[in-house]
Amino acid sequence: MATAAVQLDDKVTSFVAKKQKLLINGKWVDAASGKTFASYNPATGEVLANVAEGDKEDINRAVKAARAAFETGPWSKIPTSERGRMIWKLADLIEKHLEEFAQLESLDNGKPLKIARVADVPLTVNHFRYYAGWATKIEGNTIPLTGPPQGKFLAYTLREPVGVVGQIIPWNFPLLMAAWKLGPALAAGCTVVLKPAEQTPLSALRLGELLQEAGFPDGVVNIVPGYGETAGAALAAHPDVDKVAFTGSTEVGKLIIQAAAGNLKKVSLELGGKSPNVVFEDADMDSTIPGAASAIFFNHGQCCCAGSRLYIEKKAFDKVVEGISDNASKIRVGPGLNPDTDMGPLVSEEQLNRVCGYLESGMKEGAKAVTGGTREGTKGYFVKPTVLVNTTERMKVVQEEIFGPVVTAIPFSDPSEIAATANDTIYGLAAGIWTSDIKKAHTLASKLRAGTVWINCYNVFDPALPFGGYKQSGWGREMGHEVLENYTEVKSVCAAL
Ligand code: ADP
Repeated sequence: MATAAVQLDDKVTSFVAKKQKLLINGKWVDAASGKTFASYNPATGEVLANVAEGDKEDINRAVKAARAAFETGPWSKIPTSERGRMIWKLADLIEKHLEEFAQLESLDNGKPLKIARVADVPLTVNHFRYYAGWATKIEGNTIPLTGPPQGKFLAYTLREPVGVVGQIIPWNFPLLMAAWKLGPALAAGCTVVLKPAEQTPLSALRLGELLQEAGFPDGVVNIVPGYGETAGAALAAHPDVDKVAFTGSTEVGKLIIQAAAGNLKKVSLELGGKSPNVVFEDADMDSTIPGAASAIFFNHGQCCCAGSRLYIEKKAFDKVVEGISDNASKIRVGPGLNPDTDMGPLVSEEQLNRVCGYLESGMKEGAKAVTGGTREGTKGYFVKPTVLVNTTERMKVVQEEIFGPVVTAIPFSDPSEIAATANDTIYGLAAGIWTSDIKKAHTLASKLRAGTVWINCYNVFDPALPFGGYKQSGWGREMGHEVLENYTEVKSVCAAL
């Protein structure tokens, strides 16, 4: 943890130093209450920035602005090609400011700068570009009616924007999650109130400046940082919001559904996971071992799809555990801004305590850490990459989402039972399969109750590929053309001729 951190871009230093405001109706404003909250640097635990604290009244104002922009503002009339052009321009602007965003993301979330530079920011740019293309391709159908004689009716469907959308996002990929939500909503012609996570509001606020520069009219995207129980809850419950899109924990997902019931707003949810990652003994171990390590340790295990339950065929168990543990012990843990850091701190003290709590509970129940198992250092929120063995199916560390760099490695001897074991979870977000046998791979893929199955790879994301959960991992899909269903209504028009 010794190397000097990179020099911060001047724009980042001044952005972080200024008091951050809310973006409502194209204006940067203080919270109605005048309150602010602190965003912390997780590498040091020190205050990084002060941010206006949005609450119910601010959400009311933002929804009002979004409603006006949707119903009567210039956005409601602009050609779809213009909508696409603005989204593309936004992508260009983010790309132009790539280093600035990467630094902000590293400072606020803790992730290694070198990862934010090659993953978070470029993926965000690519995501917006993909949805820029969709703006001009959202279509209905003409539908021949089956009962009346032909030629008596003209019937067709229109796919229209769902309206004012509330979007509530988490802290693990702050900028990318904003893009996952905003890209399709804007392509579909919706207007938005976005609430970033209270731990990581900065990149969304900088994005707000670029949305303005890209030419989005006032009120099309409003950004209201604040706490979940206040601003988030007000947005989910708001009677004039047509749809809420949420990414976060399953527990909060259930609260969102309850809050949305008041006006039966549409709901889409991308929630937690406890993804099985299955290694067969015939797998190519040179790629499997680093692949399975990255499946859990990427982004410090703070991924809803992290491959946190590793099932290894018995004959390969010792080799794979040793390989992954060796891999884990070589991960350089340190502040995200240090050039040689591979893994930064967890996002907050709360997460640190949560992950350490799971480690203690696992050990108490008889699990053993082959490597890691504790916090790293005493300053900042660092946890050592950890491989646990000697676990049993019902232990909390095997059943519950830890959201940290902790994998449970479990041997299996009967391949015919692995699908049932892998599916033995309330979640169904993702799964991994490692084998050289193509038949085995696809047979297991068909049996897994998960929204994404990776074969001989993991964490491969693409804006064209749908992502979302079976079971308690969510409702609906992000990405691909599937996500556009979340942001459109279908209208059937039937005319007698
Ligand atoms: P985590 O436990 O990983 O922090 P959460 O599900 O608590 O994830 O948070 C994800 C997002 O949901 C954040 O933007 C947070 O502010 C918001 N949130 C938390 N609680 C609520 C709530 N009761 N209603 C609406 N949003 C909430």
